[in-house]
Amino acid sequence: MRALLLLLCCFSLSSYAQSMQSAKKVLKLMGCRFELTAVATTDTVAWNAVNAGIAEIDRIEKLISSWDPNSQTSQINQAAGIAPVKVDQELFDLIFRAKKVSELTDGAFDISFASMDRIWTFDQTEQTLLDAQKVKHAAAKINWQNIVLDRTAQSVFLKETGMKIGFGAIGKGYAANKAKQLMQEITGVKGGLVNASGDLIAWGASTNPEGWQIQITDPSNKTKTLGNIALNDMAIVTSGDYEKYFRSQGKRYAHIINPKTGYPTTGIKSVSIICPDAELADALATSVFVLGIEEGLNLINQLNRIECLIISDEDKIHQSKNLDLNYF
Ligand code: ADP
Ligand code: MG
Repeated sequence: MRALLLLLCCFSLSSYAQSMQSAKKVLKLMGCRFELTAVATTDTVAWNAVNAGIAEIDRIEKLISSWDPNSQTSQINQAAGIAPVKVDQELFDLIFRAKKVSELTDGAFDISFASMDRIWTFDQTEQTLLDAQKVKHAAAKINWQNIVLDRTAQSVFLKETGMKIGFGAIGKGYAANKAKQLMQEITGVKGGLVNASGDLIAWGASTNPEGWQIQITDPSNKTKTLGNIALNDMAIVTSGDYEKYFRSQGKRYAHIINPKTGYPTTGIKSVSIICPDAELADALATSVFVLGIEEGLNLINQLNRIECLIISDEDKIHQSKNLDLNYF
C-alpha cells in the first residue's frame, strides 16, 4: 500500500455532533482504494452524497483512462502525429492546467511522459540499468510543448507520432477535487472526506471532534507518530508508491520519470504536498520527486499556501518553511 504506510488517517467515528449523520464507503475506483465519507443533516443525505461522489469518480475515470481504447484520452493518443481531436471542455481544461504545471516546474511534470511508460519495470527487484542510448531514444517523444491546444476548436493535438499522454500523476487528485465539489453542493451536506489511497481532501464538519486530522508516521520507526496536520478545507497528497520501484547498484529507483533524462528518479522515498487543491497537490508531489529535495523545496517555498514534506531514501525529513506540523 502506498502512502498509507507513511500517512495514517485517524478519523475515528465518534459521537461528535450527534445531530449529524455520517456515511462512509470504501471501494476500488481508478484502480485504487477510495474512501468517501460525508457528514450531513440526515442519514439519507449523507448516503446520497457518498453515492454522488462515487458516480463522479467513475465518470472521470472513463474520460481520462488511457487503458480504455474508447476514452477521449485514448483517442488523442491514437491520433498523435495525425490530427487534432475535439474533446470535452473538462478534458481540455485538465490538459491546459497540466501544461501550466509543466511550465511552472520547467518540465519536471509532463503528462507526455507516457510515451515511454513501458521500458522500466518497477517490481522491487535488483536490475541492471538500461543503456543510456536506449533510454534517450525512448524518452525522445516526451515534450509537453508538443501538446497543442486549440481553445476555439476545443481540440488537443500531439504533434509527433508515438507521443502519448497519461494522467497517472494528476488523475486521482482531480477526481478527489471533483467528487468533493459535487458532494459539497448537496443541500444538507456539512462536511466530508475523499481519500484516494492516501491522496485526500477534507472539508467542513468532521466525524472527529478535533476536526479532520492526519497523522504522519515516523518513516524510520513505523510504530511512532511524528506529528499531525489539521486539514481544514485542505488536501494532502503523497507521491511515492512503496511498492513501485526497483533497485540498481545500491540505489532505489521510483516509478516517477525524469522527463529530461528518461530515467526514474532517485533519492526520495515520498513527497507530501498540503494545499487547498488536490489536483495541484498531486501534480506538485510528482514534480518535487523529479526536481529533487533542494530544488523541490525551493519551488514550494515560493508558492503561496502550498506546503511540502519530503522523506529521503535515508529516512531524513525535509519540510517547507511554513509547514504547520504539530510535532508530538
Ligand atoms: P503515486 O503513484 O505514488 O501516487 P504520483 O502521483 O507521482 O505517485 O503518480 C505517479 C505516476 O505518474 C506514474 O506511475 C506515472 O503514471 C506518472 N508519471 C511518472 N513520471 C511523471 C512525470 N514526470 N510527469 C507526469 N507524470 C508522471
Ligand atoms: Mg502526483
